[in-house]
Amino acid sequence: MSRAPSPCLLAANWKMNMDYLQTLDFLRRLSILLPESLRGKGPVEMALFPPFTSLRTAQVFSNSYRLPLSLGAQDVSPHASGSFTGEISASMLRTLGCEYVLVGHSESRRNHHETREELVGKVKNSVACGMRPILCVGEKEKGRGSWEEIISQSEEVFSDLEPFEREKVIISYEPVWAIGSSETASPECIFKAVSALKGETEEKFNLSPTVLYGGSVNEGNIGSLKGLGLGGFLVGRASLDPAEFAAIFQCLNEEEGGKR
Ligand code: PEP
Repeated sequence: MSRAPSPCLLAANWKMNMDYLQTLDFLRRLSILLPESLRGKGPVEMALFPPFTSLRTAQVFSNSYRLPLSLGAQDVSPHASGSFTGEISASMLRTLGCEYVLVGHSESRRNHHETREELVGKVKNSVACGMRPILCVGEKEKGRGSWEEIISQSEEVFSDLEPFEREKVIISYEPVWAIGSSETASPECIFKAVSALKGETEEKFNLSPTVLYGGSVNEGNIGSLKGLGLGGFLVGRASLDPAEFAAIFQCLNEEEGGKR
């Protein structure tokens, strides 16, 4: 059973880092760092997106270490089952306790040349198996002052979904130029992009989606990014260090993080 959504989601995208032994060590260290007061159901939901090979370890040991962690996968097959060597289906992920799945991360878009049909298939299969897809959108170049690129990335998927599927989709605004760089988008840029995305989705689909921000979020800048009305954050590099990840979690908890 999925739990009721928290007002703020803090998602750790580990990318192709952390084998199962490193995952175990991360969880052990995180459990030492997290104060008792932050282990209950609070306003911020912590979710781990490890590589597929570490999902089972995270599933088993987050319980053993009494960590309030949800699980997500970094990708999913657009197909339900069958002759798709090397692919992982949504139902396999759900069986491992995944509640979320990333769809269309800019690195997957770039490296696997994902088509619109594949993105739609990934979303549909994830929803059918009871997971919430996190659809990543982001402009490639900085400072163009237009949100057409991100609006069309979300619209091309939303337009092929049924209303009940759209309702499950979380959008993550991740400017490509800010991912893995030393530069995060300014609060003003994030606010404008998220308002444009929400406005368009409201107008076209009569829906107000949860929107996260991702792109070089860290312990030093999280304080200036919360309070923008975001539904949370997708954190890459800074989530690999348990101390930094715990500090971000703590900072979001101090003021309820954002609002989904
Ligand atoms: C990401 O890849 O989703 C991401 C946000 O990475 P980083 O925090 O390292 O920019």
